[in-house]
Amino acid sequence: MLVFRDISTLQNHLRNLKNNNKIIGFVPTMGALHKGHLSLVNKSISQNDSTVVSIFINPTQFNNVDDLKTYPSDINKDLELLRSISDKIIVFNPESDELYSGDIKPDQFNFNELDRYMEGEFRGNHFAGVATVVSKLFSLIKADYAYFGEKDFQQLRIIENLIKEKKFKIKLIRCETIRSEDGLALSSRNNKLNFSSKKIATNLFKALNFAKEKIDVLCIDEIQQKISDNLSNFKEIELEYFVVADEKNLKPIKHKQAEKCRAFIAAYISGIRLIDNLKLY
Ligand code: AMP
Repeated sequence: MLVFRDISTLQNHLRNLKNNNKIIGFVPTMGALHKGHLSLVNKSISQNDSTVVSIFINPTQFNNVDDLKTYPSDINKDLELLRSISDKIIVFNPESDELYSGDIKPDQFNFNELDRYMEGEFRGNHFAGVATVVSKLFSLIKADYAYFGEKDFQQLRIIENLIKEKKFKIKLIRCETIRSEDGLALSSRNNKLNFSSKKIATNLFKALNFAKEKIDVLCIDEIQQKISDNLSNFKEIELEYFVVADEKNLKPIKHKQAEKCRAFIAAYISGIRLIDNLKLY
């Protein structure tokens, strides 16, 4: 398996592949890989001649220094996992200086209001940081397809919008959320939870399912209230938001509409912030 740490050798290698008309898939990650990430990698492998996986903890998307410092990381384990899938994967694992020359700060973007609510509201500048690093990676890798998880649905919509606005010649492939048997969405941050907190965290998925069950019989305010009341019974859970929003423009809705919608949730479980979402219809 090839592991590149600098841009120029990666680009030399990719140029060769492109000259041979190879189709390239790209999976951006921050490492601490789990089966959710691997499902994206496997999808890319099945649909492309070559797959590039980037592993880079992007400092500009963290709005909290401690969160960045304590973000789980184990590059050797990640490489072992990727190698176990295919030794043909191309890994890009740069240092910060390689991607950010000079100041480590996000660029400015117009996300057409997709960043107005939910993560955009509670994590200032988070999406500008994400879009900054994703733009850099898209520009230097020039892949044909990029794989993003629905686990981070708002991020996925923002990147779809970015591709359109910046006219990147790449197509985003949406990948479904991978969950553990009890419904907890896999996340690198789950590594920070102990056994009992992981169990309690399954209440987020239960809340989303409750919304899906009740969307035809209760109004959205009532659903929100019942979820908030129920979660307040757990001292380990601090709900940040529960929102039902239009799937396309991500605007919160108060009444059922004809267009597709999703429920979104963010909460601290024993001090660890988790997010999840579910399509309602
Ligand atoms: P991250 O390393 O958290 O930045 O995630 C990298 C990519 O993996 C993003 O496109 C995520 O949406 C995706 N991803 C993370 N967790 C999951 C999951 N449980 N199921 C599917 N995709 C996921």
